Amino acid sequence: MQKKVEIAIDPESGFCFGVKNAVTKAINELADGQKLYSLGAMVHNPVEVNRLASIGLGVIDHEQFAKLHNAKVIFRAHGEPPSSYANLKDRNIKLIDATCPVVLRLQANIKKAYEQMRQCNGQVVIFGKKGHAEVIGLIGQTDGNAILIENEKDISKIDFSRPIEFFSQTTKDVSKFMNLVKILGQKSSQFQWHDTICRQVANRGPHLRNFASEHEVIIFVGGRDSSNAKVLFEICKSVNAKSYFIENESDIQNDWFTGVSSIGISGATSTPSWLIENVADRINAIVSGL
Ligand code: SF4
Repeated sequence: MQKKVEIAIDPESGFCFGVKNAVTKAINELADGQKLYSLGAMVHNPVEVNRLASIGLGVIDHEQFAKLHNAKVIFRAHGEPPSSYANLKDRNIKLIDATCPVVLRLQANIKKAYEQMRQCNGQVVIFGKKGHAEVIGLIGQTDGNAILIENEKDISKIDFSRPIEFFSQTTKDVSKFMNLVKILGQKSSQFQWHDTICRQVANRGPHLRNFASEHEVIIFVGGRDSSNAKVLFEICKSVNAKSYFIENESDIQNDWFTGVSSIGISGATSTPSWLIENVADRINAIVSGL
């Protein structure tokens, strides 16, 4: 008799609300048939980027954006620095701003802190990844003057004789941020910190750890360039050695499921639900034939 195989989709996998909102805005705008450009890829997932391209979404970089005229452009959930909002009218650019509200609030708070820090010779310090789109938007709120720290080594960039306002990129690891808060707090008596990590991401770690340990095999679906996907997959791997990273259903290998009775499927905050469903269908077909 064929063994029954349980296939479960992680209920917390898939787009966070910020990405869902941005992609929905893009799809709604494309419905009128006019060309729409996104400034940078809407999500760190090549399969979803290709799907959006197939319905008419073009992707441009900042250099192309600066030269663009008479066009409609969407800003993605990560947000943009103030320079991206300049001269839009002169170039007849219609802007669809899909910046996540959580990122918008953080940008506003950093701008306010920067203005205060200027009055007292203080510094705005941001924990984030160099070159990440959201971080570029955050540093832009400080005229490029915020100090970016990626790890403990970068702490040497901070002048501890001056006041400090400390923020984090929304997708950073909470424990690493709190470790930096502790170190900076010990070195400075004029130190304020703000926990600005998005709970849509942070809460997924503990949940995913449980989910990955409850199944014999884990299939994690994500874009290979997505930092969020990398972090979440590492969590799966740390509790379940039989965790496999795939970009789409064609990466699946049948022998991963031999003799297995429980399979869990999860994905990053940039992985669309339809892709996770496709993966589940493919696994269903494979185990039915085993
Ligand atoms: S992870 Fe959080 S801050 Fe980032 S886009 Fe999603 S909801 Fe917004």
